[in-house]
Amino acid sequence: MTATVTDTPEIISINPATLEELGRFPAASVAEVETAVARAREAQPAWGALSYRNRARYILKARQELYNRQDEIIDIISSETGKPPFEALSTEVFPIADLMSYFAAKTERLLRDERFLLSVFRNKRSQISYEPLGVVGIISPWNFPFAIPTGEVVMALMAGNSVVLKPSERSPLVGDRVKRLFAAAGFPEGVFEVVQGDGATGAALVESAVDKIFFTGSVRTGKRIAESAAKRLLPVVLELGGKDPMIVCEDALFERTVKGAVWGAFANCGQVCASVERLYVVEPVAEKFISAVVEEVKRLRLGPPSGCETDIGPLANEHQLNIVCDHVADAVASGARVLTGGRKREDLGGYFFEPTVLVDVNDSMKVMNEETFGPVLPIMVVKDEEEAIREANNTRYGLLASVWTASNERGRRIARRIEAGTVIINDAVYTHGAAQTPWFGVKESGLGVTHGQAGLLEFVRMKHVNWDLLPMKSNWWWFPYSERWYSRFKTLMKVLYRWGLKKIA
Ligand code: NAD
Repeated sequence: MTATVTDTPEIISINPATLEELGRFPAASVAEVETAVARAREAQPAWGALSYRNRARYILKARQELYNRQDEIIDIISSETGKPPFEALSTEVFPIADLMSYFAAKTERLLRDERFLLSVFRNKRSQISYEPLGVVGIISPWNFPFAIPTGEVVMALMAGNSVVLKPSERSPLVGDRVKRLFAAAGFPEGVFEVVQGDGATGAALVESAVDKIFFTGSVRTGKRIAESAAKRLLPVVLELGGKDPMIVCEDALFERTVKGAVWGAFANCGQVCASVERLYVVEPVAEKFISAVVEEVKRLRLGPPSGCETDIGPLANEHQLNIVCDHVADAVASGARVLTGGRKREDLGGYFFEPTVLVDVNDSMKVMNEETFGPVLPIMVVKDEEEAIREANNTRYGLLASVWTASNERGRRIARRIEAGTVIINDAVYTHGAAQTPWFGVKESGLGVTHGQAGLLEFVRMKHVNWDLLPMKSNWWWFPYSERWYSRFKTLMKVLYRWGLKKIA
């Protein structure tokens, strides 16, 4: 049984390690989505009128609630997604506690008004300020069902918006826990609404009277949302998939790079938008590197997520398991060699697949050009840095990449040539967990930004106000036009742009 039931009004949560049902939720109808948006609309003006400090108080109450209930929340995340409790803590709960602290403390400064004099129009002054958008609709995936919507919810709320969240139909229990977390923190009625449901509920939210959609999910759904939103010029942020390359140079720090490759490829069972999905290692170190990676992968402990005895749990759902089986079979049929793993593990009872390393891969294989989103690391040996960069850019995606070298200078030089939103030197994936750093994709990996100041700016509308320092009777470019002012205008052109008295306008 899968967790998605599009033809019934219920969505069902399944434990992917045991296939037991964890709970079910009625899917919100179009009318229920509209009602939630209307409630959020009504609540927003009072919420938006609060000072940043007062909004921060609510967020910090939510952080306190998260702290107090962390074990229960970790347990729900782990049982609904199959990820080890360690990862539920390290990649979901801890980063959100940090993000709440960061935006509670910094939003006021990051969104403060700016005033400046205009360079030519000396008598004029401008002010840029930021206002809430109104109601923000957030649609989220199942792979980080706690961290992904909650980070965006916090930024949207701190910026003064109310929020309607549609969590993934594959992780409704966590979605419901997010709702209860904010309710327990005492947020005013209507400021944060959650509607459960599948793609139809998400589509209804996009069609509703929201002021912006913040979507995280697949490229396919992102494009559908963009099409629907374009009809009424509804702004959207799209945080989409990736096929993230890792480049290993010959001077890479050996042990760190081996361990980094394995964590980057297999954390969260490889179900990370920024997982290491393709690895390019240069010839001189390839043989030694590949055999060390294989040894490290063989040491990973696959099993039901409990305590700290498991490194890798099951895939989060059957749909994902089927994609992984398909990609590995396609690669093997086209000549790839499996160095370790490569099999489904039905004997373990859930959606388990062995951590897998593939070599002799090529660009025609699905595992090298489509998002696998599973515990599979395909490794390609390349002649040199140039070939690695060419291969890394040979994709329609551009979310994240990593470069591994002993020289940060060399790493930055390679990073400049990589087509990705983020390039990390000597680390993988992790900057999504840093509230201060922007997270975004280029090419088909998305539009817009989350996290950092640039991410916060997605949740506000810029307002520009301009005024005179000393009001005059008239401006020289107003009516009536005259020869006298025409010639003065020309003189100004000459002074500024020919004689160069003003080099920077
Ligand atoms: P998905 O696109 O299938 O679903 C994402 C969300 O969209 C779900 O809540 C779903 O119900 C909803 N949805 C589906 N159809 C819709 C429609 N027509 N209109 C509105 N909403 C609709 O993605 P998924 O399988 O849940 O998530 C995995 C994908 O998310 C991967 O591609 C992964 O790379 C990507 N992802 C990206 C980031 C990032 O930051 N760039 C982070 C996490 C996941």
